[in-house]
Amino acid sequence: MSIAKIASVKGRRVWDSRGRPTVEAEVTLASGHIGRAIAPAGASRGGAEAVELRDGGTALGGMGVERAVASVAVCGNALAGHDAADQPAIDLKLIELDGTDDRSRLGANAMVAVSMAVAHAAAASQGVSLWRYLAGDNPVRLPLPEVQIFGGGAHAAARVDIQDVMVMPVGATSFDQAMVWCAEVYAAAGRLMSERGAVAGVADEGGWWPAFETNEAALETVVRSIEDAGLTPGLDMAISLDIAATTLVEDGRYRLVRDGRVVDGDGMAAMLLDWSKRYPIRSIEDPLAETDDDGMRRFTAASGAELQIVGDDFLVTNAERVRRAAALGAGNAVLIKPNQAGTLTEAKAALDAAKTAGWGTIVSARSGESEDVTIAHLAVGWDAGQLKVGSFARSERMAKWNEVLRIAEALGADARYAGADALP
Ligand code: PGA
Ligand code: ZN
Repeated sequence: MSIAKIASVKGRRVWDSRGRPTVEAEVTLASGHIGRAIAPAGASRGGAEAVELRDGGTALGGMGVERAVASVAVCGNALAGHDAADQPAIDLKLIELDGTDDRSRLGANAMVAVSMAVAHAAAASQGVSLWRYLAGDNPVRLPLPEVQIFGGGAHAAARVDIQDVMVMPVGATSFDQAMVWCAEVYAAAGRLMSERGAVAGVADEGGWWPAFETNEAALETVVRSIEDAGLTPGLDMAISLDIAATTLVEDGRYRLVRDGRVVDGDGMAAMLLDWSKRYPIRSIEDPLAETDDDGMRRFTAASGAELQIVGDDFLVTNAERVRRAAALGAGNAVLIKPNQAGTLTEAKAALDAAKTAGWGTIVSARSGESEDVTIAHLAVGWDAGQLKVGSFARSERMAKWNEVLRIAEALGADARYAGADALP
């Protein structure tokens, strides 16, 4: 078989869901096949994430991507003539070309767009969907979705301290049914907010804009929303939280503005364990600051087998960090965000390291997104078991859920919903 030779790579400035500039890469093969991908952007980034290249200065709030677009052209020159179907070799080339540990020369935004666009082009040249190209002969499942009901923290001007108050349709029997349940719960939450005269639009990822006196009031409202949708909290629909705890740190302690409380690591852990006893919480992401390895270990030990404990800012999609945390017993699941690493190969390595450790794996969007649906394909093609893309509103979110529905249809009788089995 002739190789899928890369002819050219073009970069362009496009705009993300926050109206900020971002970079798109378009790969054209000698065969004429094209692959395209857009880099997402985070707002509550981990300190050890790969670096995004931004222009700085005053225009566009310093968020310009002229340099990142230029990086895509540099990547293109280096990749021309190479085989798009050899993703590890392509990504290694990108990593060598960048030559830094934090991807700050080319920029992880430029690199991830190129890396994903190459995969799309290779899949196109084989005439298959990206998920199928990635899966090869391996079995796949449709992911358990994590759907945000209220957005908070850095995504909603800290109107509630918890960054993501989410639901997981653990009791659904198909991905299609999971979507219906999420739609019902999201709508019910909107009704409850408007009864309180509190609907004021949505946060960055589409969750209802929060208006609560306390953090627990948000949890209570989600429970009521699940009940109003005719579902059983815990059994049908469980709660999942992303505390993004690093964003709450002030002078070495956690400040919960809503609750008027300042707690240390042990206080935070105790509060979250108490919540998870009193509410049907099945998953907690970044419960403690990203540097608190020992706190994460103790929290994991204290929470028993019932709770999924996810490292996002803590692990930054890094295989070495996942292996170290697994050896330590710090957490039992990893969030996989390709742009935290810079290339698909590195993101896959982090996912594989987690699977080897028996951990849960969640492919995730960023708070700044676009119509790009690559992550829906990664979640299925890599059989991650779980997918987090934000809420059940705003088309940059719905595009991902809708793409999974198309993949489900393509799988037909082979479609299998991971459901609660995806949880560690
Ligand atoms: P971010 O947050 O994309 O703004 O970094 C998402 C998350 O913490 O999961
Ligand atoms: Zn997170």
